[in-house]
Amino acid sequence: MAAPAPQELLSSVFGFASFRPGQAEIVEAVTAGENTLAIMPTGGGKSLCFQLPALCRDGVTVVISPLIALMRDQVRALRAAGVTAGALTSGNTQDETDAVFAALAEGQLKLLYMAPERLASGAAVGMLRRVGVSMIAVDEAHCVSQWGHDFRPDYLRIGELRQALGVPLAAFTATADEETREEIVTRLFDGVAPRTFLHGFDRPNLHLAFEAKNSPRTQILYFAAARKGRSGIVYCGTRAKTESLAQALREGGHLACHYHGGMDADDRRTVEHRFQTEDGLIVVATVAFGMGVDKPDIRWVAHADLPKSIESYYQEIGRAGRDGAPAETLTLYGPDDIRLRRTQIDEGLAPPERKSADHARLNALLGLAESLGCRRQILLGYFGEQADPCGHCDLCERPPETFDGTTAVRKALSAILRTGEYFGSGHLIDILLGQNTQKILDRGHDSLPTFGVGTEYDRRQWQAVFRQMMGHDLIRPDPERHGALRMTEAARPILRDEATITLRKDSVVRAKGRPAAKELVGEEDAPLLSALKAKRRALSEAAGLPAYMVFNDRTLIEMAQTRPDSLDGIARINGVGATKLERYGADFLAVITGAGEAMHPARRQLAGRDGGVLFDQLQQVQVDLARGPSGIDKYLSCTHSTLRHIAERKPGSIDDIARVPGMTEQKAERFGSAFLAVLAQAS
Ligand code: ADP
Ligand code: MG
Ligand code: ZN
Repeated sequence: MAAPAPQELLSSVFGFASFRPGQAEIVEAVTAGENTLAIMPTGGGKSLCFQLPALCRDGVTVVISPLIALMRDQVRALRAAGVTAGALTSGNTQDETDAVFAALAEGQLKLLYMAPERLASGAAVGMLRRVGVSMIAVDEAHCVSQWGHDFRPDYLRIGELRQALGVPLAAFTATADEETREEIVTRLFDGVAPRTFLHGFDRPNLHLAFEAKNSPRTQILYFAAARKGRSGIVYCGTRAKTESLAQALREGGHLACHYHGGMDADDRRTVEHRFQTEDGLIVVATVAFGMGVDKPDIRWVAHADLPKSIESYYQEIGRAGRDGAPAETLTLYGPDDIRLRRTQIDEGLAPPERKSADHARLNALLGLAESLGCRRQILLGYFGEQADPCGHCDLCERPPETFDGTTAVRKALSAILRTGEYFGSGHLIDILLGQNTQKILDRGHDSLPTFGVGTEYDRRQWQAVFRQMMGHDLIRPDPERHGALRMTEAARPILRDEATITLRKDSVVRAKGRPAAKELVGEEDAPLLSALKAKRRALSEAAGLPAYMVFNDRTLIEMAQTRPDSLDGIARINGVGATKLERYGADFLAVITGAGEAMHPARRQLAGRDGGVLFDQLQQVQVDLARGPSGIDKYLSCTHSTLRHIAERKPGSIDDIARVPGMTEQKAERFGSAFLAVLAQAS
């Protein structure tokens, strides 16, 4: 029998209409048995690039992946799509392990996931040879790099495994920097460069935005409030901050918890599990919350503190929106962040070349933060890709106001130099503003020629100038003297009046009133999307699967917008493969066609007495209250027929509502008075 073509399996097994950028070439090379290294952004769709070839090839593909949770999720997702896959990890029960070996013995298994620790025992190699492994796939291949914080010593054994088995190896990572790439080639491919794929860095569904820190907690709370009920991650620089910010979010009515490397393993696993399975949870975390997060429907990522480099930034925001549906990011930054990141590099243990490369990577991120034009263009440019302005970042939407900052920068540099590069921005600004502080008087700085020459700006504006000078790497904190700022070589042309510089006026966007909720779909489709999500939740809870394994957000959005009216139509939606069509197709079709009448826009325009409108309103109320008024209670919802009943019969009291078919006392208590309010308004 001829092996099935990748394109065919792409739609029949995975339910995808087309490859994402870069996938087709990688799949082709891996299927052909070439050694390959694919560098693709987080969310770019790397798993498919070894899963699909595994189905096309004879024998078993062994997948080395660093985290048990990641492996288990991928195995479950594959099984949900009808693929025979298994994992051998220390987390297995004996039954699970037996089942894997049985499937191997029968030649059924196509993908065998294995933790790298297994390679430490000599027995593993023999076993893999016996079961007919024909390819090795290495996920998160940057774990071989000893400089990254994901370093896994057992990954170093993979090279030997490749030699022992004599089969092709395909390595995957999102880490793009040169050093890591070289280390992967050395460790995994014995220094012989594999076919390398490096492109497709654009993530068009991610909205990019930066804001200068002004009151960071308020900024984050405001951002989260506009996205209430959607899964998100807030990255913080310190462990303590994760806890206090999670608390603040809970007080703001969000479902939120914290996560950092100092928590014990069980607590961390609980958070990972909750995040993976629950819809709408916010995790406030340090970067320790990273690789294990494979949830495709994270709708936003915010940085409460500046990441350490442009690569880290890119990787962290990349965790949002892997399913391809719209997702948003916000990164806050301020002078203290810049100082902290510089100090971390200077005080780190890396050799000098690595340190200067790290400073350059931080500079690239700061350039992005202080950029005057499209952020995506700059970000992609850093990765060597050319792009037009995207129209989908904060600066494309609202170009910044700028001014010629040359004179201001020269004044600031002069204050720095005349005081021996010995002071931080607070004191320097006092000098520029002509403040008679004790420190100024003690040091005689009131007699400097720069004393009081900067009164055209206020303190906040000078802070923005200093921050931007740090961002343009004109000044750096002195690693030897805490807080002191030194001029860099890059500043010399400006000081000598040989170059000019344009700066941004910080427009402080003040949070005013309640933030407007951002919607994923148009107003017209929102009720249907809620109904589809409710159906998904019911099905996933019943099956004990994370919601996205039933269908991801992007698939539901497409259903809500295109409203297919037959199973054939459902089958054409992105993300609906044969197995899922059979398992869930009819359920979702029923939601769409059942909701169709009540949702029809023409019908909704009728007067407020119309049953369809009432139905919509009741449904909205119950979606809003699904987790209670505080958003943290047990999930409850009513069926369509219950809601229709209420819309038609218009019960007049909570007791009457409790008697509607399908209602329970609990539900009547949760929704009853809100339903009555809807009915009262309509009559
Ligand atoms: P990565 O490992 O590169 O971060 P994943 O392999 O986890 O990315 O894929 C991210 C998401 O993209 C998954 O939900 C996956 O189902 C989806 N995906 C992958 N390839 C395609 C495709 N060709 N079309 C639509 N969705 C895809
Ligand atoms: Mg992955
Ligand atoms: Zn843009």
